[in-house]
Amino acid sequence: MMKAHCLLCGEELHEITLEKRVRQACPHCGWVYYPQLKVSAGVLLEENGTLLLVQRGIEPWKGCWYLPAGYLEVDEDPTLGAMRETFEETGLEVKITGLRTVSMYQDDPRGNGILIVYNAVRAGGKLRGSDESMSVGFYSKEQIDKLPLAGSSHTRAIQDWIKEKENK
Ligand SMILES: [Zn+2]
Repeated sequence: MMKAHCLLCGEELHEITLEKRVRQACPHCGWVYYPQLKVSAGVLLEENGTLLLVQRGIEPWKGCWYLPAGYLEVDEDPTLGAMRETFEETGLEVKITGLRTVSMYQDDPRGNGILIVYNAVRAGGKLRGSDESMSVGFYSKEQIDKLPLAGSSHTRAIQDWIKEKENK
């Protein structure tokens, strides 16, 4: 493991056990590092029975498909973050119509996190990709069945949508 240092005084952190958890703490000033979940937000946008997906152009999961989504800024409302990420990744302006799902994932090499997915409808813009995507578009459940998907939270949200289509 990489040596970590105190954010306050720069001393090397040591492992301590605190409330039954092993923590990195500073032996000099007592600062404790509490790792936290990363928070992402995105949208599920369906049109004419097809789902808006982005193909990742960067690692992790390069070449795999996911819902338009990304990490929230520390001062950003999740609905606004979901709209921002959707515009950045797909060129579409969207209107959030409700909360769809919140799920936790532990399979991202960048760290564990929570994905918030909102239902959304198109409000404007024009479909286009970004520097970080290989392609973007609307796909039917039959098409999605053949696509590799990116990460457990996205995979679950997309597969739940497919199941809903099959039950109709
Ligand atoms: Zn310190």
